Amino acid sequence: MKILMASSEAHPYAKTGGLADMVSALSITLAKLGHEVRIAIPRYYGIDRDSLAPLEGAMGVPVGGGEEWCAVYTADLPGSPPKNPVRVCFIDHEKFFGRDGIYGNPWEPDFLDNPRRFSFFSRAVFQLCRKTGWFPDLLHSHDWPSALVNVYLKFWERPLGERGEFAKTASVLTVHNLGYQGVYGKDNYGCTGLGWDVFYNAGFEDWDMMNILKAGLYSADKLSTVSPHYAEETKTQAQGFHLDGVLRYRSADYSGILNGIDTAVWNPAKDAYIPLKYGISNLAEGKARAKKALQKEFGLPLSAEVPVIGMVTRLTGQKGVGELFGPGYGSAWAICRDMKIQLVLLGSGEPWCENEVQSLASRLPNFRCRIGYREDLSHLVEAGSDFFLMPSRYEPCGLNQMYSLAYGTPPIVRNTGGLADTVENYNQETGEGTGFMFDDLSPQAISDTVGWAVWAWYNQRPRIEAMRVAGMKKDFSWEKSAKKYVELYQSCLR
Ligand code: ADP
Repeated sequence: MKILMASSEAHPYAKTGGLADMVSALSITLAKLGHEVRIAIPRYYGIDRDSLAPLEGAMGVPVGGGEEWCAVYTADLPGSPPKNPVRVCFIDHEKFFGRDGIYGNPWEPDFLDNPRRFSFFSRAVFQLCRKTGWFPDLLHSHDWPSALVNVYLKFWERPLGERGEFAKTASVLTVHNLGYQGVYGKDNYGCTGLGWDVFYNAGFEDWDMMNILKAGLYSADKLSTVSPHYAEETKTQAQGFHLDGVLRYRSADYSGILNGIDTAVWNPAKDAYIPLKYGISNLAEGKARAKKALQKEFGLPLSAEVPVIGMVTRLTGQKGVGELFGPGYGSAWAICRDMKIQLVLLGSGEPWCENEVQSLASRLPNFRCRIGYREDLSHLVEAGSDFFLMPSRYEPCGLNQMYSLAYGTPPIVRNTGGLADTVENYNQETGEGTGFMFDDLSPQAISDTVGWAVWAWYNQRPRIEAMRVAGMKKDFSWEKSAKKYVELYQSCLR
């Protein structure tokens, strides 16, 4: 099958979160399964042109207000199979993408011209196929920045009929986070180049605004999200971000497929960022060495006895940081003050939270933080912690809890979305389980559950050891998930 991924992020070129990992890992696995896969992403300012191969000639892209011209660069995606590499095509347009930031920057968190930037990108995906003479059987787009691909296919390309190059192309749209929908004033609609009939027929209309994701949800042949639990939750008013009605309407075409993890990168037996590579056979030594390195890195007393609770997270409300670090320091203060633990956090995000976290770290001897994005440190936190805390408000899939399971670090998580699909709650009767879970999102529930894990650490250590091993034995490989995507693709080609 020929598959073209249209995405605003792809690891290692552009990443703000799990979306980038997913797009690249899924593409690589599909290529390993024998499919021909390409990825289209914008060439952001940070992606060095010198490392890419240019395609000859400029490419014209018809959008609202005329034609925009851009260049195209290509590269083989690192990690893809040498005999069937995933080809990444970079859409290079100085005015739209030659700036710092993918969606925005600290001063302008959502660039004002984002509707124009991503309309252009989505439209360019089709021109890219024409330019290269390579037409996919399936267009797979991701989140609102490429959701217009589904709309253009249905309302621009397919109406060309049999003479159009995309007459037989099917499309899938994956929702990675329903909280981000690309909602803008209607006055931006002109930049899509689509008529006002399409505005209403494709479902852009959203309380007199333009909602790009919503139009994509109506236009794609099939919809997916990144875990079965989240698929169900998004159909409810509580978690549907007011698109639950649309998702219920499209229920027959909407499913959840759990993301896998990249086991070449997130694997304690191969990890170059940790002091000693380890597996189940040398787990105790591997974890002990990593824990020591982590404590050293964060300037904490070196103690094997005191459990380290780690976090790697975006500091945003979705991740439960309001309850953890919110007014009066939420539960973090109580956890650090009342429990014999060490807490380390690596993260960046909303300024209020960065401030709060730093202020807390300056007051507590057993809490340390690092504000910023550090790939290497994120591996060390996963490996060196004894527990991994993820009190998410909602979690479409979540990668970090799967990483922590793979690294023998039982996660402490809220029972929601992908966390509910991947973690099994500790059963105190039988000792079974892979982590600790709670339902309520409240400071009390977070500290109670951390307290439960810490109690088990000090009183039932053999159970914790068994829990580590149970987590490490879980299969979160991409192969399993990629096969489900192939089934989904085949169902829309039929
Ligand atoms: P989300 O995509 O909602 O942020 P996920 O758990 O699905 O959450 O994926 C987050 C990804 O981003 C993981 O690969 C995680 O390690 C990484 N990450 C998040 N914050 C940081 C950070 N400050 N430094 C390094 N990696 C980070």
